Amino acid sequence: MESQEPESHKSQSSAAACRSTPTREPYPSYLRLYENGELGRRARRLLDLLEDCTVCPHQCHVNRKKEERGFCQATAEPEIASYGPHFGEEEPLVGSHGSGTIFFSHCNLRCVFCQNYEISRAWDAERVSLEELASIMVSLQARGCHNINLVTPSHYVPQIVGALEIAVGKGLHTPLVYNSGGYDAVDTLKLLDGIVDIYMPDFKYASGEVSRKYSGVRDYPEVARLAIKEMHRQVGDLVIDEEGIARRGLIIRHLVLPHGLAGTKEVMEFIAKEISPRSYVNLMAQYYPAFKAYQYPEIARRISRKEFEEALWIAREASEEFRLA
Ligand code: SF4
Repeated sequence: MESQEPESHKSQSSAAACRSTPTREPYPSYLRLYENGELGRRARRLLDLLEDCTVCPHQCHVNRKKEERGFCQATAEPEIASYGPHFGEEEPLVGSHGSGTIFFSHCNLRCVFCQNYEISRAWDAERVSLEELASIMVSLQARGCHNINLVTPSHYVPQIVGALEIAVGKGLHTPLVYNSGGYDAVDTLKLLDGIVDIYMPDFKYASGEVSRKYSGVRDYPEVARLAIKEMHRQVGDLVIDEEGIARRGLIIRHLVLPHGLAGTKEVMEFIAKEISPRSYVNLMAQYYPAFKAYQYPEIARRISRKEFEEALWIAREASEEFRLA
C-alpha cells in the first residue's frame, strides 16, 4: 500500500446507515478456522509456496527459504519497519485506541511516488521470526488497538498466517485489516477467506500504460479488479458496529493523481457497477511528489483543489450511495 502517507489520512464516517449489531458468529472469523484446524492447514500450505514463490501476481518462482529474491526482494523471514497504534487511518479503523499497524518492509510494486519509500525499499528493516510477529500482534491487542492493520502484506501472506496461528494460541482475538496496494493474487486471497475480516486495498490506476510507468507493472488494472472482486466476495460491504468501529467488509482507497492520471472515472464506475454502489471509498487528496516523482514533470506537483473537487464529483456521479471518507 505504498502510496499512503500514514499520518495524513483524513476521514469521516458517513456510515450511520450501515451500523450493525454484532452477530453470534465467531468473531474475528479466524477463530473458527483456528478451532477446526483449518488455520494451521492454510498456514502450512501458504508457507510451502515460499519454496517456489507464487504468492503474488509476479509469480517469480524463486525459493525464498533459500534467500532467493524475486521482484519484491523479500525472503522467507518477515521484515518490518515499525508497528504501533496509529491514529491517521480511516475513522472506523481508529476508534479511541488506534489501529494496530504493522508496516512490512519491501513491496510488490515500484511506485515512483512512493510516500513510504524507506519502508518499501527496506532501508531500515528488522527481521522477525513468526513467533516475534505473533507477539507483536498480541502486544497491539494489549494496547487496546481495534484491529491488526497489516500494511503492505501481499508478499508476506504466508508468514502472516503462520504468525496468526501462533498469536491466536496466545489469545489474539482482534480482527485483521489487509491493507494492500491492490496487486494481489486471487489464488492467495482465496486462502485468506475466513481469516481476514476487513480488506482495504488501493485501486491506483485504470490504465496499464500508466501503472507500468509509475508502478512498474503493466497488468495492475486487471489484477486489481479481480483482487477487489474476490475481497468483496469474501467480506461484502463495510459494516460498522454501534461504537463506530469497522467490523467486517471492504474499504477501497483511491489516490487522486495530477492530470487525472489515476483514471478516477473508470475506477469509480468499476467500483459502483462491479463491486457495490454502497462501497466505502476513501478518495485521497494527499498526493505529493515523493521519492522519484520529480523525475516525471507531469506528477511533480500536488493536485489542485479543482482536480480533487472534480474527482469527488466523478465519484458522486458514479454512485450517490458511495460512503466517501
Ligand atoms: S511475493 Fe515476491 S517473490 Fe513471491 S511472487 Fe510476489 S514478488 Fe515474486
